[in-house]
Amino acid sequence: MLEYNQYHPPIECTLCGRCMEVCPVFRATQREELSPRGKKFLLQNSGKYFLERKRVDYLAGLCAGCKKCLDVCPQKINLPLEIARLKSAHPDWKSWIWSRMITSGPKIMPVLKGTRAFIPSIPPIIDNALADKNLIPPVLQISGRISHTSRRAVLFPGCVALHLRPGLHEKAIHLLDALGFETIKTPDWKCCGYPLGSAGLFEQEKREREKNLQIWVKLGKPDIFVLCATCLDGLKNPFFSNSSLNAQTGFRQKLFPLIPDFSGLNISRSNPEESRTIFWHEPCHGSGQSRAALDNALSSVNLDLTMMDRNCCGMGGSFAVQHPQLSRRIADIFWQNMPSSRNNLVLTDCSGCIIQLEATSPDSFQAAHWLEAIVFTP
Ligand code: SF4
Ligand code: SF4
Repeated sequence: MLEYNQYHPPIECTLCGRCMEVCPVFRATQREELSPRGKKFLLQNSGKYFLERKRVDYLAGLCAGCKKCLDVCPQKINLPLEIARLKSAHPDWKSWIWSRMITSGPKIMPVLKGTRAFIPSIPPIIDNALADKNLIPPVLQISGRISHTSRRAVLFPGCVALHLRPGLHEKAIHLLDALGFETIKTPDWKCCGYPLGSAGLFEQEKREREKNLQIWVKLGKPDIFVLCATCLDGLKNPFFSNSSLNAQTGFRQKLFPLIPDFSGLNISRSNPEESRTIFWHEPCHGSGQSRAALDNALSSVNLDLTMMDRNCCGMGGSFAVQHPQLSRRIADIFWQNMPSSRNNLVLTDCSGCIIQLEATSPDSFQAAHWLEAIVFTP
């Protein structure tokens, strides 16, 4: 079993600077001490140069967890993980609130929704997530059904799809049924672990991951289709569990992204007269499979999917809640240079990104999960 503390960067940072080109926090601030290289320097030298512990924690903690620095680092330095460890070693009251929100989400979400107008200083991103949503006009119409296979499947919707996006869970179940799966009723899944782990809440993450594994075993180890790219990333995390390595490996092997692959079903445009420009935002933790499948589906009805630059939208789990101004600045950069013509739609497959895109997009854009752009007809 792997534990977080078993990760050791192979060698120290060589100060090559490759991570600076990709870091959204550095791009938004142009401050070297907030770049991955600067953070690594701070972490390596926190005992020297009269650096105050609190100051080091604060500066190093300004991270959106996008992992872009890890992707490009020749030393394979996992800075998001080192930062999560730092947060774990120095928890604060905000971490406690975040932990309660995530692990008690199903119980408190309806209460928060009903009382959000009375909560003083509610972070803008939470306020927007809790607001009632106008459904977007669908783009594709899907009908038909593939004959039943013997494959059993269960959906992992993630807490956003389950509690904050009306109709998303039902559509996902409908799609699995249409694709011929024997779909099991969605159980009481716990958090995927990503928002807890990235906030350094390792014990809580461990508990939630362990419970998910036990739920899956109880269900008879079906295939798990995951609606959110970041949830999939969290569930696939190879670090620790009390269960055997075999059980963990088996669990990870049964995880699949729910992608817009409509092979064998009938597909048409919902409104052939309507002209919309459709963009794709690839989440930082995305696999690209949803984009490729959606591209195929749209081109089969003569619609295009335009890929946006692979920039971070600035959500980053607790980052947008703890650092709303910086998160907003990253989002503003994200939206720069986008067309101002009306009726643009951005689709993605990460629930967190949807909330951030929706909260920050210019008026000419709507943002949604790709499944919200689908309507099923008999
Ligand atoms: S994870 Fe992303 S935001 Fe954090 S330091 Fe790396 S590139 Fe910057
Ligand atoms: S890419 Fe890696 S080795 Fe290069 S400066 Fe960044 S953290 Fe250091």
